[in-house]
Amino acid sequence: MWGMIATWRMALEGVEQSRTLLANHQSAGDAIEEAIKAVEDFPYYKSVGYGGLPNEEMEVELDAAYMDGTSFDFGAVCALKDVANPISVARKLSKQAVNNVLVDQGAKAYAQKEGFEQKEMLTDRAKIHYHNRLVDMKQEQLVPYAGHDTVGMVALDAHGQMVAGTSTSGLFMKKKGRVGDSPFIGSGLYVDSQIGGASATGLGEDIMKGILSYEIVRLMKEGKHPQEACEIATFSLEQELIARRGQAGDISVVAMDHQGRWGSASTIDNFSFVVTTETEGTVVYRTKRDGQRMEHSVADQEWLDRYLADRMQPLVVRKEGEDE
Ligand code: ASP
Repeated sequence: MWGMIATWRMALEGVEQSRTLLANHQSAGDAIEEAIKAVEDFPYYKSVGYGGLPNEEMEVELDAAYMDGTSFDFGAVCALKDVANPISVARKLSKQAVNNVLVDQGAKAYAQKEGFEQKEMLTDRAKIHYHNRLVDMKQEQLVPYAGHDTVGMVALDAHGQMVAGTSTSGLFMKKKGRVGDSPFIGSGLYVDSQIGGASATGLGEDIMKGILSYEIVRLMKEGKHPQEACEIATFSLEQELIARRGQAGDISVVAMDHQGRWGSASTIDNFSFVVTTETEGTVVYRTKRDGQRMEHSVADQEWLDRYLADRMQPLVVRKEGEDE
């Protein structure tokens, strides 16, 4: 059995590409890197790689991580600027004995030295989003964070090896140097080829409080189905946060176990994810929450097309006093 699961519909094209790799018995590592690169390279996804939204100083700072579930090799970059594919740098770092996690200038110098493609990652489109956000912020009291869009993936290959990866530009308008859960082992991702893997997206500051991806893998180790593990981990973290702090940020997760069974949970209603397995083909699901349980439905073509069209529609530069 082989398969792959990924957060958000934006992963679809990349997962489809990697399905061919997995079907040809190539490695889970290649499947993860190729699929995430496809998302990083697509200019209209404004939360990952090229076209990602900037921090408050209008710089695109990217976080990415790669974990091998067999060796436990782990690599990550945080606040990396002007490198085309952060996931590839993270994968390369995972192969080193030490110095696996590099930040900012150190990460950039490493990427340059190793010959990774350098690229200005701030697009004109992202500049318009930034400008419009400044206009909106003058007019209304905006919540610091709305919506979440990290791409996180888990793959199982035909040889039984599992790998997980993440890539994100983090929160729009974040402070310079702010890093969320995505590049942190245990929080944004975790994988053990003997059990399974998980990845999270949402408010990183809250996901880290529950070391959420590790918790899902731990529950699977106890024998829980990935779906049950995702629901228990996500909703108990949400409950804890509300009990202790009065509120919880958005949290969404995906998981796959070493048999290719999968699961997903989300505290919001419009989460989507992509699954491909040897037996099921590639399917995009939309989630709906029913208390502490999830209901997943297959996304129809109209919804899939609209998702892309929405992201690619022309942007209007807003002036003060104008509505969105
Ligand atoms: N988890 C990411 C972060 O906190 C954001 C996201 O998933 O959109 O940086």
